[in-house]
Amino acid sequence: MSVTAKSHRCVVLKKPLDLVIEDRTVPEAGPGEVLVNVQCTGICGSDVHYWLHGGIGSFILKKPMIIGHESAGIIAAVGPGVTHVKVGDRVTMEPGVPCRMCPQCKTGNYNLCPDMAFAATPPYDGTLCGYYRHAADYCYKLPDNVSFAEGALVEPLSVGLYACERGNVKLGHRVFIFGAGPIGLVTAAAAKARGATYVAIADVNAERLDFAKTYYTDAQYTLERPEQGEPNMEYARRTANQILTAEEPFDVVLDCTGVETCVQTSICLARNGGTVMLVGMGAQVQTLPVAEIYSREVDVKGVFRYKNIYDPAVKMLGAGLIDVKPLITHTYSFDEAIKAFEHARNGTDNPIKIQILGDNLV
Ligand SMILES: [Zn+2]
Ligand SMILES: [Zn+2]
Repeated sequence: MSVTAKSHRCVVLKKPLDLVIEDRTVPEAGPGEVLVNVQCTGICGSDVHYWLHGGIGSFILKKPMIIGHESAGIIAAVGPGVTHVKVGDRVTMEPGVPCRMCPQCKTGNYNLCPDMAFAATPPYDGTLCGYYRHAADYCYKLPDNVSFAEGALVEPLSVGLYACERGNVKLGHRVFIFGAGPIGLVTAAAAKARGATYVAIADVNAERLDFAKTYYTDAQYTLERPEQGEPNMEYARRTANQILTAEEPFDVVLDCTGVETCVQTSICLARNGGTVMLVGMGAQVQTLPVAEIYSREVDVKGVFRYKNIYDPAVKMLGAGLIDVKPLITHTYSFDEAIKAFEHARNGTDNPIKIQILGDNLV
C-alpha cells in the first residue's frame, strides 16, 4: 500500500530565523513503519526556540530540518510487517523512537536512550509536513470522540502526566506548580486526574493566571520579580514564606519554568519528605538550598520528556478524565504555518496552544 502523491509540502527550518514551506519527496514506509497524513500539529516552545536560535543545549541545527513534533493524523500507508494499525486509522504520534537495543531501552527507560531519534530534534526531521514516516508502534489509535487537535496535544499532556507519575502525585495530594504556560497547565490537569485535591499555580504573567483560574487549579499566585540587588535565595525564601502564610507546605512541587528562583522557591515550598520535580529546562548550573534537601528529606528529581505514557494519555482523553480542548487558543491553516510561528513568537492575545492544520493533499 502506498501513497500516490510524489511530493508533499513541509515546513522546513533552513537556518535560524529562516523558516519556509518547501516541497519534498514523499518518503516510503519501510518494514515496521507507516506513513501518516498529518492532520494537526501544535507549536511547542522548543520549535520556536530552534527557529529563533538554531539549537537547544547540545542539539544544534546543522542542516535544514522539518519542524514540529506534536502531531496527529491518518495512516496513509503501511510498510511490511505492520499489523496493529491499518490505512485510514486515526492516530497520534509519539515523536521519539529509541534504538530498542541499549540497556535503557531494554529496561523500559527508553526516554533516556542515547540514540533516540526524536522528531524536530536535530538532525531528525519533524512532523509538520504532508506525510510523516514513523515507527508503526509509536502510533496510537485515537478513540472516535478524540479529535486530531486533541490528539496533537497528547505530546505536551504526556510531559505533565509523566512528571506527575515520577513525582508520585497521589490521592489527596496538595500540589504546587511554577509556570502557567502549556506545560504548567497540562501538569495541573494531570495532577488532578491522578487524584490531587488541591493544585496551586504561580507565574509572573497575570493573563496566564487568569486562564489558569479556569483550568484545573484552585489557587493562583502572581510572582513578583526580585527586588533590585536582592540575592536569588533571599527572594526565594521570602516568596515561599509569603505563600506559606496562607498555605500548608506541598506534597509535590513541579517547576515548569527552569528559572533558578522558582526552583529554589519550590524546594522551600515542599513539605518535609516532599518531592520537587524539575520539569522546565533553564540555566544549566543553579544554586540550590541543599540544607532543605538533606535536613527535610525533600526529593529533587529531574524528568526528561516521558515514557510509556501515550497509551494511558489517549485513554484518559477518550474517557473525558482530562479536557485539553480549552488549551487550543489559535488554529492556522497549513498555508499560514509561518504566520502561526510569528504568532507564537510575538505572543499576541495570550496564546496557550497554537496549532496548524494539515496540508490539503489530493
Ligand atoms: Zn512539545
Ligand atoms: Zn536505546
